[in-house]
Amino acid sequence: MLGTSGNLSILIENEPIQFLITASGKDKGELTKDDFLLVDENGKLIIINDALSTHLQPSAETLLHSTAYKHTQARVVFHVHTTNSTLLSMYSNLEFSNLEMLKGLGFKTHDVKVIIPVIENSQDMQYLVNILPSYISEDVPGFILKGHGLYAWGKTVQEAKRHVEIFEFLFDYKVKELSLKN
Ligand SMILES: [Zn+2]
Repeated sequence: MLGTSGNLSILIENEPIQFLITASGKDKGELTKDDFLLVDENGKLIIINDALSTHLQPSAETLLHSTAYKHTQARVVFHVHTTNSTLLSMYSNLEFSNLEMLKGLGFKTHDVKVIIPVIENSQDMQYLVNILPSYISEDVPGFILKGHGLYAWGKTVQEAKRHVEIFEFLFDYKVKELSLKN
């Protein structure tokens, strides 16, 4: 998570939705518990005590975490800006099949066709929140924002991390496959 990019969140309450998310601009390799903010489903900060530094702000991307929590079984959402996901997002939806590593996304067999959604990026977060549910599903635990990066989720921290790693394997594979063809 280079250059303080990306954000990590974990669901605390389901009804109404409340989750902890990394504050904007923090080095993700040096996080402490004070770098997580409690927010509601609208991404608004919930102040839990005076000790919490109120100068920290949740990222504008908080709403996309909230949308993932609302529309999937996710309890943990990780968002990373990686070279391969950004590079491949310039292509349309990414399709993978017959790869053993697909099992790491929860598929029972490698013999499946998996399409990872690529969604046009926008600075209008409300627009993204509105269109996101039509792209995401329970089958594929993530999506790419074009020219931006990957969102992946899971029911636990370990599962979300595994999904990020599997997605990154697939993206690395695709970049190398495309370069072999040229
Ligand atoms: Zn981002």
